[in-house]
Formats: sequence, structure tokens, C-alpha cells
Amino acid sequence: MVKETTFYDVLGVKPGCTTEDLKKAYKKLALKYHPDKNPNEGEKFKQISQAYEVLSNPEKKRIYDQGGEQALKEGGMGGGFSSPMDIFDMFFRGGFGAHRSRVSRGQDVVHQLSVSLEELYKGTVRKLALQKNVICDKCEGIGGKKGSVEQCRTCQGNGVRLHIQQLGPGMLQQVQSMCTDCKGQGEIINQRDRCKQCNGKKTIRDRKILEVHVDKGMADGQKIVFSGEGDQEPDLAPGDIVILLDEKPHEVFKRSGNDLIMRMQLDLVESLCGFQKVIRTLDGRDLLITALPGTVTKHGELKCIMNEGMPVYRDPFTHGRLIIHFSVNFPKIIDPAVIPTLEQCLPPREEVMIPDSAEEVVLTDLDPEQESRRRETPPAYEEDEGGPSRVQCASH
Ligand SMILES: [Zn+2]
Ligand SMILES: [Zn+2]
Repeated sequence: MVKETTFYDVLGVKPGCTTEDLKKAYKKLALKYHPDKNPNEGEKFKQISQAYEVLSNPEKKRIYDQGGEQALKEGGMGGGFSSPMDIFDMFFRGGFGAHRSRVSRGQDVVHQLSVSLEELYKGTVRKLALQKNVICDKCEGIGGKKGSVEQCRTCQGNGVRLHIQQLGPGMLQQVQSMCTDCKGQGEIINQRDRCKQCNGKKTIRDRKILEVHVDKGMADGQKIVFSGEGDQEPDLAPGDIVILLDEKPHEVFKRSGNDLIMRMQLDLVESLCGFQKVIRTLDGRDLLITALPGTVTKHGELKCIMNEGMPVYRDPFTHGRLIIHFSVNFPKIIDPAVIPTLEQCLPPREEVMIPDSAEEVVLTDLDPEQESRRRETPPAYEEDEGGPSRVQCASH
């Protein structure tokens, strides 16, 4: 007969229940009333934790069973409960050993998948071969013959051992270390009863082929989730396999949201006299662009082609813009003999008034790279990338 049943009632178990029942009850309630899930049930969480702390400790349990909570206090053992979070952490992270360290659900496994811009444009299906842990089918996740699993006696199934360390006079510290007898598992399977296939580990490695559907318009860093395909572990819902898309840089196009940006080099003659150019799209079509004679395309100018950017994710018939950033290649020198002819073609120059006192100085070349290294900031005369958000698309 026990003196009182408050702690048992808190956990919803009967006096005389097994350690396993006790753990199950605590696990269920602690997860339910954890402050992360139930911020207003702090008191309840504390009660569960204290009840479990006492009933899971044989010495404290004996005192409590005989004399109730009062006896614990008088015996100096009830005076200080551990913090509920410490109990929780020990139970779920330390107490159950490393491989069962997570709460109710296995960890997600993240794989990076390198994709080209073409693949993101056209969409693709990629096959991915993965290794994952699955429940051993031979022992059905028990690790050995039925009934061969015993609770570790050294740690009472906690997977950890607590030691009291004396730091100084009157200063005691509780230190936790992994139980070496069961290697933190909390249980022991006799060598000869162990499952031959998984060697008592309960899971085996298995090869799995995943078909990853990369949809049109998906973006760098986007996640494709395979729910419940993560590593399997006994007593845990498997986590997810998460495929993280990693966009490879493209030679021609740079992506900015749904827009594509490309640089186009023009020779001076094209800039001044018009041009025709062909752009090969990401799905292999050729686009012809024309600047009619009479139009001038300036160095650094931006133009765009509507609806030739990236397809919009989940709306693949809508596309962003293809933005063209023009660079004009100026000739290094011009034969002085042709200058008069050239001058005749160009808008006339304005006459410059030179004051009598003007001092004649020499222009020296300057290496922009060297300059930017010296100042550690890009010089102002280097044209910037011209953010696409500022682009006004001129129709022509
Ligand atoms: Zn142990
Ligand atoms: Zn097995």
C-alpha cells in the first residue's frame, strides 16, 4: 500500500506500474504540456516533471510510497526538484541515448540538388539515389528475438548515469554521463539473441531512388519535401527528405526573380548604326532582336523583351522579362586620316573657349582595377549593374 497517490495520479498511472509504463506516461504528457506547445500549462508541466522525477528514482519512490510527499521533504529529497526543462531534456535528448534523441518525430534529411537554369526553365524529373535507415524487416525493429530486450540495470533504462561531484565544501554538482553498459541505449540485447541482419541496431541502411520533380519556374533554395521519407527509427514517425535546389550559375543569363538578365556586347558601329542579334533562349529557341538604323543604343543602356524571362512557378505560361544590358565596345584608336570624314557624320561639336590663363596639363591613363583595389570601393565611373527593378520597358 502506498501512502498517497498524487504523483501517480498526475501521470495517470497506478502504483506498482512498470518503469516502462511510467516512461510512456511521462513521455505522452510531457510532450502534450511542453511550454512550446502549451505555454499556459507551465504548472501542469512542472507537476508532471516532479512526479516523474520522484517515481523514476527508486530511492525517492520508496520514500514517497512509504511516507508521501511530506516524507520526501523531511528526508531532504523533496526540497529541490530539478527544473522541468532539465528533466525533459534528459529524458528526450540524453536519457534515451543518441540515436533516439529526438522528440516524437525523426529528423529531416536535407539533400542539395544542383540544377541548371535550363532545368528550372523547362522543368525536369531527376532521379536521386539515397541511402536511408529503414526498420529492420527481420526483427521488425526489435533488435533481436521477441522478449530478448532487457532494460539496462546499470542505468535503469535511462541511458545515462548521474554522479554527484563535490566542487568544494558544501558545493555539490550533479553530473550526467552516458551509460557505458548499454552505450546510452537504455536497454541490452544479449549477443546471441541479437538480430543477425541489423546486429541489434533495429534499423538497416537501404538504397532508395527518389524521383524529384523540378517544376518550371522553381527557384534557387526552394525546397521539395518528401513527407515521411526520412530515416526510420523504432517508436518515431520518420522525418522528411528535403531536397534543396541549388541553381548553377549560367554563362549567359542571370536570374532576378522571374526576370532574366543578360549582357550584350555591341560594337560602336552597331551602337550608332543599328544592328540585328540572335538570342538563344533557355529552351533552345532563337530570338531575333533589331535596332533599326537611325536608333542609337548607348553604352550601359537597358532594354527588355516581355514574356521571355523565367516561367512563373505554378503559372508556367506567364513569364518574366528578358532584360538586356548593352555594353558598347569602343575602338581603341581611330586613324587620324578618317577623322574629318567622321566629324562630318557626327553632330557638330561645340566650340570651347580657352581662357588665356589656362594651364596645359597631361591626361594619364588610369587602371580602374588598380583604383578599386586602392580605394576598396568601386570607382564611381564604373557603371553599376542597373537594378532591373528600375527598368522601364520601352516598347519599340
Ligand atoms: Zn545503461
Ligand atoms: Zn533486425
